[in-house]
Amino acid sequence: TIGKLTVITGPMYSGKTTELLNFAEIYEIGKKKTLIFKPAIDTRYSAEDVVTHKFHKMPARVVKDSTELFEYYNSLIEQPDAVFVDEVHFFDVELVDIAKKITLDGVDVYCAGLDMSYLWEPFETTAKLMALADDIIKKKAVCEVCGEYKATLSYKLKSNGGVFDVGGKDKYIAVCKDCYESYERNA
Ligand code: ADP
Ligand code: MG
Ligand code: ZN
Repeated sequence: TIGKLTVITGPMYSGKTTELLNFAEIYEIGKKKTLIFKPAIDTRYSAEDVVTHKFHKMPARVVKDSTELFEYYNSLIEQPDAVFVDEVHFFDVELVDIAKKITLDGVDVYCAGLDMSYLWEPFETTAKLMALADDIIKKKAVCEVCGEYKATLSYKLKSNGGVFDVGGKDKYIAVCKDCYESYERNA
């Protein structure tokens, strides 16, 4: 059977990586073979692990782009049961076709990443993966301005460095749309 494609998305701090690692753990408890990837650009906490904001972590293969990801996947002697990719918004759109190809091998694919940039615009790779997904888990965060559990956007505190700019709480906060708008009006 063809593998299932699941996309876990939402703003920063919404628990995307936590959810991704929870799924990976379920496969591992079932003695299934997992393979976790992350892009080389995201070095916030560790070069070799996928790490959540609560410092829960699992070993990951760091790859510079989707071609390297697919080459590594194809080089394996034993096919995994599931492939996990964190921070998919940092990947080139070729990842979309590669994810589809991996599911055609009967392997489940889980992708986690931001749906929108801090400009309230979609990230192409995540958007296309969502279009092909069997399941989409759209997470929310707590709005760091009003405290409501309805943050769907990431707000950039210091607007420089573009949309592909890694950072933590020093640079980005999770906000709801209303607070995003009032921040923009007062900026
Ligand atoms: P993501 O991968 O979506 O950035 P993580 O899974 O790494 O998220 O981290 C989620 C954790 O971040 C939560 O369990 C919580 O402890 C913490 N956190 C920090 N700020 C917030 C916030 N504004 N809303 C919700 N959780 C937050
Ligand atoms: Mg994350
Ligand atoms: Zn708010």
